[in-house]
Amino acid sequence: MSIRVTVWNEGRHEQRSERVRSVYPDGIHTVIAQFLSAQGFAVRTAVLDEPEHGLTQEVLDNTDVLIWWGHMAHKEVSDAVVERVYQRVLDGMGLIPLHSAHFSKIFKKLMGTTCNLRWREVGEKERIWVVEPGHPIAAGLPPYFEVPQVEMYGERFDVPAPDTLVFMSWFAGGEVFRSGCCYHRGNGRIFYFRPGHETYPIYHQPEIQQVIVNAVKWAAPNNGHLPVFGKVDPLEPLA
Ligand code: ZN
Repeated sequence: MSIRVTVWNEGRHEQRSERVRSVYPDGIHTVIAQFLSAQGFAVRTAVLDEPEHGLTQEVLDNTDVLIWWGHMAHKEVSDAVVERVYQRVLDGMGLIPLHSAHFSKIFKKLMGTTCNLRWREVGEKERIWVVEPGHPIAAGLPPYFEVPQVEMYGERFDVPAPDTLVFMSWFAGGEVFRSGCCYHRGNGRIFYFRPGHETYPIYHQPEIQQVIVNAVKWAAPNNGHLPVFGKVDPLEPLA
């Protein structure tokens, strides 16, 4: 069965900015959904303005990997939906927060830190280095690739040390950033990926699409058993 992906987008910049609409006329989620569908994943989309933000229990129960893009409306995401997503991650659903989702309620809850960082928006170049070339999320990528115009994110990025760091970014202005971070929480896998400012055509770039495709495959549940906690009887007779 193909991996079931839900691409969630807050969707506000596209409504309010002509400049953003010129890059993503049908929304950031639509572009991401299209290149994932082309890989054979079973893809649906959901946006903030839908009832329950499009993330009902039924949708989440039928989602293997949830991709999250949000920026200006993190506070409008209901705590009940955040809790529902959180429980699904602990039960094994993959989560891929993109770019400004570093400040989403769900990512902050899963990390337990501020997730704050330094930033600058002047359209400088980013060079993304693959620092773990044997990792599945680096499959098919060269030693580094560049994004011509980005919003800069700089260290310190206030997150726990990742279980695996796959990408490290350098920016023309001099900063560096841990831009591809893998985490395990409960049975779930989380991959934070930095690129994706809404005014640049970053999700149209082939290398970026390759990373997200790889990340979906990595983050999908492996059908491992759900652990049972609490008091237990011994497996062997004890004297
Ligand atoms: Zn941004």
